[in-house]
Amino acid sequence: MGNAEIVDAGNKYVMNTYLRLPVAFVKGEGSYLWDDDGKKYLDFLSGLAVNCLGYNHPAIVNAVCRQVQKVMHTSNLYWIKEQVEIARLLVEQSGLGKAFFCNSGAEANESAIKLARKYAKKKWGDHKHEIITFSNSFHGRTLATVTATGQTKYQKGFDPLPAGFKYAEFNNLEDLESKITGNTCAIMLEAVQGEGGINPATPQFVEGIEKLCRDRGLVLIFDEVQCGMGRTGKMFAFQNYRIKPDIITLAKSLGGGFPIGAMVATDELSAGFGPGDHASTFGGNQTACAAAVAVVKYILDNNLLGNIINMGEYFKGKLEELKDRYPFVKEVRGLGLMVGVELEADGNKVLEECMKEGLILNCIGGKILRILPPYIVTENEIDEAVQILDRVFAKI
Ligand SMILES: *Cc1c(COP(=O)(O)O)cnc(C)c1O
Repeated sequence: MGNAEIVDAGNKYVMNTYLRLPVAFVKGEGSYLWDDDGKKYLDFLSGLAVNCLGYNHPAIVNAVCRQVQKVMHTSNLYWIKEQVEIARLLVEQSGLGKAFFCNSGAEANESAIKLARKYAKKKWGDHKHEIITFSNSFHGRTLATVTATGQTKYQKGFDPLPAGFKYAEFNNLEDLESKITGNTCAIMLEAVQGEGGINPATPQFVEGIEKLCRDRGLVLIFDEVQCGMGRTGKMFAFQNYRIKPDIITLAKSLGGGFPIGAMVATDELSAGFGPGDHASTFGGNQTACAAAVAVVKYILDNNLLGNIINMGEYFKGKLEELKDRYPFVKEVRGLGLMVGVELEADGNKVLEECMKEGLILNCIGGKILRILPPYIVTENEIDEAVQILDRVFAKI
C-alpha cells in the first residue's frame, strides 16, 4: 500500500477521532522518518514528545527485543524485576519515594487524582476532595482527566462530568489563592504547558504554589507527562524550580516509543494507597519497563540533558534570528527542547508547507508552532530545520 491507499482504507475502517495529515510513516532512523512513498522527513515533533531518542535507537531496540525473547508480561500478582529497576531509577532521580506504573499519561494523572484524594480524606476527612487545575492545562481524555483539563472544548458533550474540579488562571497566584477552600485537596499543574501552547510557569508562581500547599496542607501534583523525562533539560521539569512536589506523573518520553505511564510520589503520599486501592493489568510489565530503563540509563550515561540544554539554546538562538527577520513571528519560548513559536500568521499553513519541505512539527490553535525535537538532535539537523522554516516563512 502507498500513502493514498492507507489513507483511503483508514477513513473507511478507523474511527474518526483525529484530524490526521494524509501521510503514513513506515520507517524511522535517528531524527528522520520515511513515508510509504519513500519521502524523507526531519521529525521535530518526536511522535508528540514520545520518541525521545529518535527512531530505531539501538539502546531501546535491543532492550525490548531481549526482553520479548525472555518474558513479555506476567502481571502484578508477582514481582517484576524490570519494574523495580525503573522504579528505583525514577525515585533516585526525583528524590521522591515510590512509583506506580500504568500505560498512558491520562492513567498516570487518574492515579494521581485518586491517590491525592485517598491520602487527603484519610488525613483530614471526607470533605477534602477538590482538585484545582489551571486554564489552558491538559491532563488527558478519561472522564476525570478531561475534567481536570482546563479547556472546555475537550469536555463538550461528555457531561455529567465528575465533580470536585476547579480551575484557576495559570501564572496567577492571587486567582489560585481565591479558589482554595477548606475542601481543597490538591493542586495540579504542568511546569510547561504542552497542549496549551508551550507556556512555562514562572518561578514566582511555582514557588508560591508550593508555599500555599505547605501552609494549607494541600497535595502538590506536577503533570510531567509531556515536560518530564529530560524534555526541559532537567530529568524532571520541577527541577527547574526550587521546589519539591508530592506527586509527579510521567508517560510520553518515558518509554521512548513503548507505551508506559508512571506516577511517582513521596513515601508519605504513597502510604495513602494499600493493596487493592489501585491497579493496572498491563501496568509496568517487563517489556515496557525494560524500554523505560534503557531510556533513562541512556539519558544519564550519555549526558543527554547537556545536549538538550545546548541544542535548545542553539535552536532558540536561530529562531530568534528568524523572529528578527519576519515581523509576524511574535515570540519564541520554552525550556530545553520544548519550544513554542507564536505567530501572527496562519500556523496551519506553515505546518502544511513544512510537511511539503520534509519537516515535521505541530501547530496549536492555528498560531503556535510546537516543536519537540528528539534529545539526540544535532546542530546540523537544527540548521536544516531552520533553513526549511526560513524558506516557508518567506512564502507566508
Ligand atoms: C499527552 C498528555 C497527557 C495525556 O497523555 P496520554 O498518554 O495521551 O493519555 C496528560 N498530560 C499532559 C501534560 C500531556 O501532555
